[in-house]
Amino acid sequence: MLLDAARAVLQRTFGHSDFRGLQAGVIGEVMAGRSALAVLPTGGGKSLCYQIPSLVRPGLGLVISPLIALMADQVAALQQSGVAAEKLDSSTEPSLRADIWRQIGEGSLNLLYLSPEGLMQPSMLEQLSHLPLSLVAIDEAHCVSQWGHDFRPEYRMLGRLAEVFPQVPRLAVTATADARTREDIRAELRLGDAREFVDSFARPELALSAERKRGEGHGRVLELVAERPNRSGVIYAGSRNGVDRLAEKLAATGVLALAYHAGLDKDLRAHRLEQFLEADAAVMVATIAFGMGVDKPDVRYVIHADPPAAIEAYWQEIGRAGRDGAPAEGITLYSSSDLAWAMRRIDSRDMDGSVKAAQMRKVRQLYAMLDGTSCRPAAVRRYFGESSVTACGQCDLCLNPPEAADATEAAQKALSAVHRLGGRLGRGRVIDHLLGKTKDVSGSEAAMSTYGIGREFSAAGWRDLLDQLLFEGLLREDPNDGRPLIGLGEAGEVKSVYRGERRVSVRQMPASAEASGRAGRTRGKRHSGERLGIEPADAPLFDALRAWRRDRAAEQHVPPYVIFHDATLSAIARQRPASLDALAKISGVGQSKLKRYGADVLKVVREI
Ligand code: ADP
Ligand code: ZN
Repeated sequence: MLLDAARAVLQRTFGHSDFRGLQAGVIGEVMAGRSALAVLPTGGGKSLCYQIPSLVRPGLGLVISPLIALMADQVAALQQSGVAAEKLDSSTEPSLRADIWRQIGEGSLNLLYLSPEGLMQPSMLEQLSHLPLSLVAIDEAHCVSQWGHDFRPEYRMLGRLAEVFPQVPRLAVTATADARTREDIRAELRLGDAREFVDSFARPELALSAERKRGEGHGRVLELVAERPNRSGVIYAGSRNGVDRLAEKLAATGVLALAYHAGLDKDLRAHRLEQFLEADAAVMVATIAFGMGVDKPDVRYVIHADPPAAIEAYWQEIGRAGRDGAPAEGITLYSSSDLAWAMRRIDSRDMDGSVKAAQMRKVRQLYAMLDGTSCRPAAVRRYFGESSVTACGQCDLCLNPPEAADATEAAQKALSAVHRLGGRLGRGRVIDHLLGKTKDVSGSEAAMSTYGIGREFSAAGWRDLLDQLLFEGLLREDPNDGRPLIGLGEAGEVKSVYRGERRVSVRQMPASAEASGRAGRTRGKRHSGERLGIEPADAPLFDALRAWRRDRAAEQHVPPYVIFHDATLSAIARQRPASLDALAKISGVGQSKLKRYGADVLKVVREI
């Protein structure tokens, strides 16, 4: 019954035909007046879990959110859908502030967004305590936990809400919280035995891939971006310097590329974030300083120009693509040198040995997934503790299962060459040695039994095999201040390869590795609308709708996606609705937007 009222709002106001995933369960719980904890993946529709009960239950709904930008976006989107929503923060003009309080007094405001410190001010609590409240939602609830990855001390104050508003249901939502973090959220927010809703970590709209870096520089990243024109993307690079250089190179190719890192002035950062959010197709090149609260739903790809720090970070970072539920991509470039650097960074930190070991294990697990041979999302979900996980069917490894070939004998040759050379040479010199091609070779090196024993493979084949051995820990790279040297890894493991007890397999025989690298690249080429499920025939209409949306967004100074998401526009382009009724049936077209934009949209459809 209560849920029927909620579903009616879902359809009328938000234009979606039914709840998905765990939404109905969470909303039902809150509608019944009970507190709850919901862990739903990014793009899983968390915001509706508190927006809808706020609209249906009597009283004002409070939403606590850590970032002003995030609130501003949600409020703009709600207002587009005809919902009375506002945010209050230190930047709110006094006249608007007075108007908001007037609306609250009249009972006409449905939702009020606040920061934790804004809400917990005594005067604010005092004013709110006299009002009927429909619920208090705590967004990004993992911020309350020290075990989470983004602890915010001001979130700790929210525990007091349990005493201040004992009758009001509290809903804690987050996209990432392992069991330990969930326990912490429950304790800190005093949720008692509130029901917990934990959805799968699956992100079926994301097609994931990873490739080993080839050569130096950013050539491959430029290629990947060029293959995805007129799309918004995020590119993560490991260093500020790398971010600046990559953004420059992209801009030189005519892409709207914005650099973002902690070394830039705060106002410049804010400006670039705004540009990115409002653009129809922009590429944000950033360090991990760019992250939480960036809810641009139409990010179509995330590229890691350098690999992330661990699987948790990987999932979060690629999770910023495809939040609107339309197809998107996560592409990661990685190398054995990145692995070596990551290990060294951990080793140089002033930490307990056991903490170091745990962090190094996380790094190894990341590279095992990146360089692995079976479904990537399945590996990640198992890592997060999900059981009975099936293959995704759309990552690079599902689509083109690599053929494993035994390379134990070649590995034995490489390991004994490295052993003889005493770990004093870099990769290129080791390969020259194996091929017997060392320039001005010394008499002692030429006399070694391993000199020239690997002529059957190409240099590229050996490079791949050495990478493989590095990823498996059989070889170890010493970064040596940018002139890396290769030495033997784990002694026991190396010995078992010599004895033939441990087999080494590579994705293909090293000799053909070069060819497989090229094949891997052409696979990435697709026409630009394909990942959005747009047939070439519908592309002109889709582009025209996007152009129309861009103009309407610019007029109103809002990001384009608060008008309609890409997923909605692509459905319109596919179905070509001829009437307002037909248009209303498309997901994302609610009553308010139908009234506001329906006639315009039908006109675009008729004209193209
Ligand atoms: P989250 O905050 O969990 O990342 P959002 O609340 O921003 O996700 O929702 C992600 C997208 O999914 C939005 O485009 C939203 O309109 C859409 N969405 C949410 N619930 C539904 C639903 N029941 N049916 C269709 N689309 C939905
Ligand atoms: Zn897969």
